[in-house]
Amino acid sequence: MTKHIFVTGGVVSGLGKGLSGSSLGRLLKARGLRVAMQKLDPYLNVDPGTMNPFEHGEVFVTDDGGETDLDLGHYERFVDENLTTNSNATTGSIYSSVIAAERRGDYLGKTVQVIPHITNEIKRRINRLVSDDVDVIITEVGGTVGDIEILPFLEAIRQFRLDVGRNNVCYVHVTLVPFIGPSGEQKTKPTQHSVTELRSRGIQPDAIVCRSEEPISSHLRRKISNLCDVPVEGVVNAADARSLYEIPLVLHNEGLDNYVCDLLGLGELEIDLAPWQALVKRVEEADTSVRIGLIGKYVSLPDAYLSVVESLNHAGIHHGADIEIEWIQAEEVEGMLAAGRLRDLDGIVIPGGFGERGVEGKIAAAGYAREHNIPCLGLCLGMQVMTIDYARNVLGLANANSTEFDSRTLHPVIDLMESQRDVTDMGGTMRLGAYVAQLKPGSRVARAYGEEVVSERHRHRYEFNPKYRTRFEESDLQISGESPDGRLVEFIELDNHPFWIGTQAHPEFKSRPDRPAPLFRDFISSAMGRAEGRNPQLPSIAADAAATADS
Ligand code: GLN
Repeated sequence: MTKHIFVTGGVVSGLGKGLSGSSLGRLLKARGLRVAMQKLDPYLNVDPGTMNPFEHGEVFVTDDGGETDLDLGHYERFVDENLTTNSNATTGSIYSSVIAAERRGDYLGKTVQVIPHITNEIKRRINRLVSDDVDVIITEVGGTVGDIEILPFLEAIRQFRLDVGRNNVCYVHVTLVPFIGPSGEQKTKPTQHSVTELRSRGIQPDAIVCRSEEPISSHLRRKISNLCDVPVEGVVNAADARSLYEIPLVLHNEGLDNYVCDLLGLGELEIDLAPWQALVKRVEEADTSVRIGLIGKYVSLPDAYLSVVESLNHAGIHHGADIEIEWIQAEEVEGMLAAGRLRDLDGIVIPGGFGERGVEGKIAAAGYAREHNIPCLGLCLGMQVMTIDYARNVLGLANANSTEFDSRTLHPVIDLMESQRDVTDMGGTMRLGAYVAQLKPGSRVARAYGEEVVSERHRHRYEFNPKYRTRFEESDLQISGESPDGRLVEFIELDNHPFWIGTQAHPEFKSRPDRPAPLFRDFISSAMGRAEGRNPQLPSIAADAAATADS
């Protein structure tokens, strides 16, 4: 029988419910259990694909092309399982299914209502992950208890316990215990209120994860236990950790996994946390500082680049480096270059993005990195702006551009594929999900991956224009990876440069804390070379890549 853990949040949003759920997932996996994870999001968008990153942070892409909530990135990184579109459901997608069924006449003339039709559809979504290969499903309910739009979800998870049996379900509620400066005290009242709210929906939490700045006292823990009617072992404290990868260890020390396993009758399973402890130790012991400039359009909301940041951190963990990110607003690059302010960076990352704003700054940053031997990694739009810089400034193709930014450019080095030209619907018109690429033997990219056929995830409309391919290949720029049919350019790299590599894909979605994405790993190695004041040359990178390829 598959067991279910539901994670809800109270008091405020942004408490790290996703991280708490992921950490619990990791702990259960470390006991040998097979864990699946999913997120239910109460907003009305059918998926986050159409949302501005300022609104909702990064859109995380799954292998099967799902455009999903960024918490799925945490799930994949912590539990180390590739998820699918089925791991994310929004109110919008749930209503769409119910309304489509109503139009088909599936409800046989009945009045279609939130209860039971919407709640049944929510339960169907939860059940999609049930299989013989899964022991525990962790379902995070997005939003905060008390929100209007969360109600159908709370009702559905309440009913769920009745449907599958009390002993197969556990409710974990994540709350905030704030510190009130003037009185010098931590306060339990918000937790009490949010548990009262949850109970008013018929859900009594089995465990409460108290987020706090500083550790909470045993007195406070007993108070919460008493007032919220949760056994004291079920009240666990997740005080702010130095690194997010520490959270599984914190929750384990607090006894959360033991408690949950007891509750769900999962038996006495031995836990092997040694690999995770080793990982956290590496994070703590990082002794070299590397300054990476991240040139973006949404830099005021770092969550918009969550997977990129985590991939940099994974590479840092691998090399024992502490990554210091310099958030650079793309529109300010040209002014900063004039003031010589990018000179001190050890590496530059140009991440993905949409729309014209800031693009010229990104092109300028790519060019500066190229001319000044600064390691530079371009991701999706990042590869496109590298291509534009090179076309304009090395190949002499004046005003070369992507037709996304200048539909009348004389040199459309980045353009829509024929098949995408007439599409007007904004949903699902992109190249989405995992695509295989064939790498060029002996190229830097192939050496980084340690293999010649690789799969990475995509999310874009525009592509390198094949009409210009020969012009590029006759120069120092190599096409180091392409689609198996040779039509699409997937990776580019520059000869005679420490590291100037772009990919049309988003390798950041597959990076793991203990298995950094190969391009990020070698990029950081190259940036460390610059940080140490030695100009890394090809052989040392190659040696590093060879040494780490099969690690
Ligand atoms: N805007 C570009 C395109 O659609 C790049 C997208 C991205 O960086 N994810 O092709």
